Amino acid sequence: MKIKMTVPIVEMQGDEMTRILWDWIKEILLEPYIDLKTEFYDLGLENRDKTDDQVTIDAANAIKRLGVGVKCATITPNHQRMSEYTLKKMWLSPNGTIRAILDGTVFRAPILIDGIKPYIPSWVKPITIARHAYGDMYKNVESLMEKGSKAEILITNADGSEKKLPIFNFESGGGVVSGMHNTDKSIYSFARACFNYAVDTAQDIWFGAKDTISKTYDNRFKEIFNELYETEYKPKFDELNISYEYSLIDDSISRLVRSKGGLIWALKNYDGDVMSDMVATAYGSLAMMTSVLVSPDGKYEYEAAHGTVTRHYYKYRDGEDTSTNSVATIFAWTGALHRRGKLDNNNELIDFANRLEKAVIKTIEQGIMTGDLVGLFEKQNITPKKVNSKEFLNEIAKRL
Ligand code: NAP
Ligand code: MG
Repeated sequence: MKIKMTVPIVEMQGDEMTRILWDWIKEILLEPYIDLKTEFYDLGLENRDKTDDQVTIDAANAIKRLGVGVKCATITPNHQRMSEYTLKKMWLSPNGTIRAILDGTVFRAPILIDGIKPYIPSWVKPITIARHAYGDMYKNVESLMEKGSKAEILITNADGSEKKLPIFNFESGGGVVSGMHNTDKSIYSFARACFNYAVDTAQDIWFGAKDTISKTYDNRFKEIFNELYETEYKPKFDELNISYEYSLIDDSISRLVRSKGGLIWALKNYDGDVMSDMVATAYGSLAMMTSVLVSPDGKYEYEAAHGTVTRHYYKYRDGEDTSTNSVATIFAWTGALHRRGKLDNNNELIDFANRLEKAVIKTIEQGIMTGDLVGLFEKQNITPKKVNSKEFLNEIAKRL
């Protein structure tokens, strides 16, 4: 008998190779065992274009309503995609739209496999990056500056009074200028999401910023983190025997490299963007990195950290064999099923999610993997065997 679900998961289909993998994962690994209940939104680029991107907004609101979503990778259109898909408009990044509606923090954690050694051998446990997903450089206003121009910040207060802060005088030559912002509300949400996640997963948390240089901007982040920790979270942390620590980002990087892992590293938007690629690569492959967006009121959206794997898709379309890694996409599903199970007290669903994750790890640890992992795998008495995209899923099913 199949496992029953009571409340649906918000399912967001996507693009290219991951769209193909998505259907196979459901067909081979989920539907034979679960009476899968989902509310389906097609976020494939064609449907986003057809619905004037309303489908993305609807999906985000559905996550708000139902609490748990799982998303396939999607194309963020650029000029080349405009002509490839003859789009009406260069639609925004769906992830950006969903993040803006849920106001979330993105947590990224690698999946560790016995046989795939991190480039930093001391990292025996996963490092989870918590990236603030609002503001700073991602919402900046910038301009080229001509020789002879000058840049100032003009602040108009609520009472109409004005304050002018000089930035730079470009009298001897041109240059560039940028204006950034963040909001207390978003920083509080970020800090709260980080502390909740630390409590949820019982891991230490480090927050790194640059308050020595950015004495007002970065310092505001530090103040808010410290305040929330001291006033709300400290007792819970003490009880779980976990810790919170602020340090300069430089210092936290050098200590991270020497650490064993097993902690959450909270970072501002840009730092998180850049460092998550470093951490993913250091653990082996982008295809082994999970990603979850957590809103301040506890809504969860799971996805793989990688994109739609375009190069593989073009091969697939031309009828060629592909060996695309589906692990992070499978873990997006198990994350969502696990969360749904927890919310609905559905132990069978939780148990299934755990078993599926174990089956994936076992498959690779026994030497069966996709092409991206073959060169990274080293284990005594096991020669890694490269299988194609579908064979990999069937091998997992055999062990499930
Ligand atoms: P990508 O799809 O992550 O792929 C980059 C390269 O990484 C691939 O060509 C492949 O290398 C390798 N790779 C990534 N995932 C893999 C997997 N599962 N299995 C095996 N190899 C994997 O990034 P991209 O090429 O920069 O972007 C492609 C599209 O994805 C773009 O349209 C972009 O907008 C979108 N994107 C979406 C998201 C999202 O929805 N969250 C995130 C990033 C990018 P080889 O070709 O060398 O095998
Ligand atoms: Mg990045």
